Amino acid sequence: MSPRPKRQRRLNEPPAVTGFIPDDGDFDSKDIIILLYEEYEAIKLADYQALSQLEASKIMEVSRPTFTRIHDSARKKIAKAFMEHKHLRIGGGDVVFNEKWYLCNDCESVFKIDSSETTDNVICPVCHSKEIVEIQNADTNFRKYRGMHGRTRYRDGIGQQPDNCICPKCNYSIPHVAGVPCNSQLCPTCNIRMVRENSYHHKNIINKRKP
Ligand SMILES: [Zn+2]
Ligand SMILES: [Zn+2]
Repeated sequence: MSPRPKRQRRLNEPPAVTGFIPDDGDFDSKDIIILLYEEYEAIKLADYQALSQLEASKIMEVSRPTFTRIHDSARKKIAKAFMEHKHLRIGGGDVVFNEKWYLCNDCESVFKIDSSETTDNVICPVCHSKEIVEIQNADTNFRKYRGMHGRTRYRDGIGQQPDNCICPKCNYSIPHVAGVPCNSQLCPTCNIRMVRENSYHHKNIINKRKP
């Protein structure tokens, strides 16, 4: 018997992080727990935004029992990652985003395209690369795993710089607010996710940026 086709779950936008790793770096980089996009969304809606399961299920356009199942699965995975010090990676699942989001595989900028714009031959607005992938449900479409960069970023990054979020294209910047990740904010003119000024990621983009 083939499984019943699942209805796609609706998400506003992809998460602004690709995953989490243990702070001390003591983990097996190949032993990864995949938290599906819909599981991440379930945690966001039910635990972070404290919506009822009924409200959350409506937003994701699934039945309430389905939401409960997704949410339970998400919690089990997160608990396992915490207790067993595993790399938790976000991606995959059966979702549809409300807007078209892209990742540049060269400079790692993340941007979205207005529904009115053509989506043929999309190039990176920051570095003009054609190595663009649409962020969608297929995990393979998402950012390549970059080894220990997580630690490098952590060391180079937060805590030793002016605390600003900056647009990697136009340099529009705003003060960073604790609890609001820079990459959860879009540049109002470029529709590109902002980055922490002078972070590893930001320096990487600057090296590749073209006018
Ligand atoms: Zn780029
Ligand atoms: Zn901008």
